[in-house]
Amino acid sequence: MIKISRRQFLITGAGTLLGPGLLDMLCPFTPALAQKAPKDIRGRIFTSAAPEELWKWSHEGFLYEKLERDRVVCGICPNSCMLSPGDRSICRSKVNIDGKLYSLTYGNPCSVNVDPIEKKPLFHFLPKTTAFSIAAAGCNFRCLNCQNWEISQVRPQDVRTSELFPPDVVRAAKSSGSASIAYTYSEPIAFFEYMIDTARLARQQGINNLWISNGYINTKPLLELSGVLDAANVNLKAFSDGIYRKLNGGRLEPVLNTFRTMHEAGLHFEITNLVVPGYTDDQEMAEKMCSWIVENLGPDHPLHFLRFFPRYKLDRLPPTPVETLVKFRQIAMKAGIRYVYVGNVPNNEGNNTYCHNCSKLLVERRGYHIPVLNIEDGRCRFCNTKIPGRWA
Ligand code: SF4
Repeated sequence: MIKISRRQFLITGAGTLLGPGLLDMLCPFTPALAQKAPKDIRGRIFTSAAPEELWKWSHEGFLYEKLERDRVVCGICPNSCMLSPGDRSICRSKVNIDGKLYSLTYGNPCSVNVDPIEKKPLFHFLPKTTAFSIAAAGCNFRCLNCQNWEISQVRPQDVRTSELFPPDVVRAAKSSGSASIAYTYSEPIAFFEYMIDTARLARQQGINNLWISNGYINTKPLLELSGVLDAANVNLKAFSDGIYRKLNGGRLEPVLNTFRTMHEAGLHFEITNLVVPGYTDDQEMAEKMCSWIVENLGPDHPLHFLRFFPRYKLDRLPPTPVETLVKFRQIAMKAGIRYVYVGNVPNNEGNNTYCHNCSKLLVERRGYHIPVLNIEDGRCRFCNTKIPGRWA
């Protein structure tokens, strides 16, 4: 593992190497104060990301190009951050130090939980199992409605973190009895180096890898990642480039490219669309989106329409009316998508799975509880039709 040395990062050289501007960004304290921090902080599982700890969680960027005058360009996502020495990336988790790109989120997750897989949501992949779920700080988007802005719109040192390097994550996932590790909550593209190394180890040890993402990634790192992924849920935030720019700070086409690439790679993935009033609740846009999905990805990738609740900078909007979600589900099914769900609406018919051939109830969901499961060997128990996904 390539790390920034402690010496280089903070104590002697940091001020000289990075200049006072970056040092302030990286470190809310002065180097002199950092040196005085208690040594026993290292032994703590949870730490408030003291600046003198950050060096431990640095790792050279997975994919970047070096330019003249020590500048670098990150190749992970379409933001293509070009950073001069001392600059920090859009996703806030990368810095240029002395002409090299470093991730500062390698082994320091800010969220660690064991979740039902249905929460991701993944409805067609190992139902009733759990996913050991991790996130590190940062995101390459700026969604106005972000549900996790406290961890996605901050720098790694702004949040409380635990110390879990890839082997620790795999070990913890196994001892939690989880079938999978999910890279989730914030935006895993912003901790790509940590994610892919963990996923490679997990794959070797028979643990599945789940990617829960905005899909705003370049093809090359996506193909690398796809090689060790088992399933994904990728958010298609809108079917309009203008809305992507306004609501999320991204663009539509790279996300569509992600869907095409994952489909061609034969990866199991599900699609999530959050229906935000005034932004993505347009019926015509939903029709176009569903036609595109059927035409480019076929009818078998499950689609989840999620109900919006007021959040973050869109806290004055009303929640999505349930009728809108029900209508969108009908639109998608009419377009030919076989498995369409309504999320964030308890006890709705759209929570369940019905066989696309005989229409019988296959999976009943009550929250994350599954009282009915009528799928055997991946087939409908009533008509023997193969149901897309992995069921055991
Ligand atoms: S992953 Fe981060 S550093 Fe790399 S291009 Fe995207 S926003 Fe920039």
